[in-house]
Amino acid sequence: MSSKNLVLIGGGHSHAIALKLWGINPLSGVRLTLITDVYQTPYSGMLPGYVAGFYTFEETHINLSTLAQFSHAQFYLDQAIGLDLINHQVICANSPPISFDYLSLDIGSIPTMINVPGASEYAIPAKPVPTFLAAWNDFVKTVINSPHKNYSISIVGGGAGGVELALNMHSRLSHILQEHQQPLENLMINLFHQGETILTGHNFSVSKIVETILKQRKINLYLRQKVVQISAISQSIYEIQCESKLKVNCNIIFWVTQASAANWIKASGLTTNEKGFILVNNYLQSVSHPHIFAAGDIATINNYPRPKAGVFAVRQGKPLFDNLQRMILRKSLKPYYPQKLYLSLIGTGDKNAIASWGFLGYRSPILWTWKDYIDREFMEGFKNLG
Ligand SMILES: Cc1cc2nc3c(=O)[nH]c(=O)nc-3n(C[C@H](O)[C@H](O)[C@H](O)COP(=O)(O)OP(=O)(O)OC[C@H]3O[C@@H](n4cnc5c(N)ncnc54)[C@H](O)[C@@H]3O)c2cc1C
Repeated sequence: MSSKNLVLIGGGHSHAIALKLWGINPLSGVRLTLITDVYQTPYSGMLPGYVAGFYTFEETHINLSTLAQFSHAQFYLDQAIGLDLINHQVICANSPPISFDYLSLDIGSIPTMINVPGASEYAIPAKPVPTFLAAWNDFVKTVINSPHKNYSISIVGGGAGGVELALNMHSRLSHILQEHQQPLENLMINLFHQGETILTGHNFSVSKIVETILKQRKINLYLRQKVVQISAISQSIYEIQCESKLKVNCNIIFWVTQASAANWIKASGLTTNEKGFILVNNYLQSVSHPHIFAAGDIATINNYPRPKAGVFAVRQGKPLFDNLQRMILRKSLKPYYPQKLYLSLIGTGDKNAIASWGFLGYRSPILWTWKDYIDREFMEGFKNLG
């Protein structure tokens, strides 16, 4: 077999797993390349716990440079910005084009911000995660340095990500205020959601449990409120305006709305769905370009719509690895079917977690202990490679 180039774009959950498996079961005659815009990629399951201060940066991030070394992959710290599908090349922001015979994309998603004037100027999207964490850590420092002041935070988007951020941000900041003997009333957190109930996609019981916790923590929940504009009142005060004409002022705004795809994906000529996500078949293979694969948030499996969640990105790691190797070896590919019913464990920022499964919802500290164990075990799998 002549030497083949397999290029991976993005070090998301599926690629991290595929890289590790490649390191354990390498394929001779294949030049593996990873293009990533970060050295350390976050593990979504532990991100809210990092915000709460339960975990360190190292505990919640996978070192992609070490992982690439383990799998003997060439490592490009660069951002892919386009694909030349005719010449089989990845166009990068800083490096010359990178040629591929086979390609796989796992670049995640970003919150939808378009069409809301002021959102991209004044709100901080939850993704890319490094930008979000930099803004969050700066804000935490401001509160630590001036704990006597009043602070108001707004979170736009009441899905699992928004709810977890609201609860975990509350936990971290309340702790800081308590440490400095400041009243918790100095802190105001607002959560805006355009739906009827919080946590769209989860069952009614879970929504009700979350609503109760938000109330107990005095987090303002604005349901059926569609944010339509954000304006700057001063350097540190922003005004959120809703379709209903409701106006709320705050010091910082985090944006955690529905996932959307990077624009360059559709522009590349790959077949996408109406939202710009790469349409793949059950082999995680592009429906238009069989030598190209995609997994995680950026992929949508034709006829198997599922929420964009880390749990699916993780599950797709092994089938993606198998099919990339099988494709190169010219073996028949193996189908992957995403499960319909899946368990979500939602951390509530107080070392409790809610289990959401089908129509069932239940909250307990034991669930947090279990979640913490699963997450740490997952991350342990990426330590001490070599
Ligand atoms: C606040 C928040 C909390 C969440 N909590 C949970 C949770 O508890 N459980 C859960 O299941 N899901 C959760 N999610 C959803 C979860 O984050 C995503 O579904 C998951 O991260 C998707 O994984 P992925 O592998 O597709 O991509 P990602 O994990 O997003 O990884 C993509 C990688 O590709 C890199 N990249 C992106 N673009 C490029 C480019 N052009 N060139 C090179 N590299 C690139 C990125 O830097 C990143 O390293 C949460 C989301 C948010 C916003």
